[in-house]
Amino acid sequence: IIPDHEHPHPVDREAEGGDSPPNTPGTPTSGTPPFLRPPTAGGRAQSDNQCVGRLQLGGGGMVDHYDMQSPLSPTRPKSPWGRFDPYDFPEDQDKEYVGFATLPNQVHRKSVKKGFDFTLMVAGESGLGKSTLVNSLFLTDLYKDRKLLNAEERITQTVEITKHTVDIEEKGVKLKLTIVDTPGFGDAVNNTECWKSVADYIDQQFEQYFRDESGLNRKNIQDNRVHCCLYFISPFGHGLRPLDVEFMKALHEKVNIVPILAKADTLTPIEVKKKKFKIREEIQQYGIKIYQFPDCDSDEDEDFKQQDQELKDSIPFAVIGSNTVVEAKGKRVRGRLYPWGIVEVENSAHCDFVKLRNMLVRTHMQDLKDVTRETHYENYRAHCIQSMTRMVVKERNRNKLTRESGTDFPIPVIPSTTDTETEKLIREKDEEVQRRHSEHEPEQEHSHDEHSDRPLEPHSEPGLDPGPEPEAS
Ligand code: GDP
Repeated sequence: IIPDHEHPHPVDREAEGGDSPPNTPGTPTSGTPPFLRPPTAGGRAQSDNQCVGRLQLGGGGMVDHYDMQSPLSPTRPKSPWGRFDPYDFPEDQDKEYVGFATLPNQVHRKSVKKGFDFTLMVAGESGLGKSTLVNSLFLTDLYKDRKLLNAEERITQTVEITKHTVDIEEKGVKLKLTIVDTPGFGDAVNNTECWKSVADYIDQQFEQYFRDESGLNRKNIQDNRVHCCLYFISPFGHGLRPLDVEFMKALHEKVNIVPILAKADTLTPIEVKKKKFKIREEIQQYGIKIYQFPDCDSDEDEDFKQQDQELKDSIPFAVIGSNTVVEAKGKRVRGRLYPWGIVEVENSAHCDFVKLRNMLVRTHMQDLKDVTRETHYENYRAHCIQSMTRMVVKERNRNKLTRESGTDFPIPVIPSTTDTETEKLIREKDEEVQRRHSEHEPEQEHSHDEHSDRPLEPHSEPGLDPGPEPEAS
């Protein structure tokens, strides 16, 4: 067994699915283009010895530089956007166009320039293979410095939240990947409400985003909102444990939960099937709202509909993790070697690893971010605005009462903590706007110093939709 980062050659992969041809630009397509579709399970195997993936990691001071020969994937999605001129087709030559079919290319160019970010949380009791799976998913070594606690230390352990960030670059596209881990979850003797610190962490990220969004400089907001939570379920229990139910119920309104059946190699295929069925049943029975894959359009082709259904039926994804490369049938594969045989991480007959990775990275990453923004964050934001409005109304009524009572001295008011916080925030913002105005006014008339080309940004009230970003004042 050779640790895969020491392995000198690209590694052949098992078949992951059908190879989708690149979408032909300008050609009318019905429904979702092939590059957006999950690959077909059990498609044609293929090796490509020319392409060696390269990861450049260097975020958060965790890993400075890391080169790894990536195992090759037979279904590497072809670069679908922005590579072609949508009008460059013989049949288009004598037609007149305005030209807005280039809009997707413009969007593509802008987003590639900006780069992407994704925050993934992993939760579940320790020892279920979370770190191994994350390393296998992203071909990194994110847990080099992890310190494992002994049994005594774990008795009173509280749940910690740790963050690992890496910058990955593939084919010129940059991804800032943040993994949020929850060591200690479910490890103590008393695990009552141990999901609380995880819920608090998610709320704090929403709160930070809400503050930044309502602030003066909204251009470079760092988005630390959690886009997905892989929740690991033990393969040794009979379905969900009470803690699993509690955790998922406490968090399902805040984050996209994707349930994972850990260490699937410890179960026979029939056991996997039965466990999956039981877990799905319990998820429904307890009213847990896990991440829902978007429905495919009715005009999609049958093949795609079937793949989509297969993906939905795979929940919870039964996964196997391994950070070693072993030799199976003359090929080098990522897997686990046992006296009786080898389990291959990327063999879809052995587990759902490839399905999970495809879903997470290739087909649904953007949807996970969209649902986070449009549903979970919106819920949080609506809640905040409601409490702020209530506070303002209360304050107005109080002032009115004070005026009408005719007393000479102000009635002392003891506002709640949130009220004081919000008031303080509004006051700070007002003061900042005033300060900026007084600083800039004389300068703008006379000179172009270092600040003068920076546009003044209008004050946006916290909690109110701030509208599009200002171009200039
Ligand atoms: P974590 O505490 O949840 O992060 O778990 P680790 O990733 O540290 O894994 C704990 C142990 O389980 C290690 O000895 C791993 O080698 C092993 N392990 C990880 N993934 C799997 C798996 O899919 N199957 C089996 N059988 N063991 C695994």
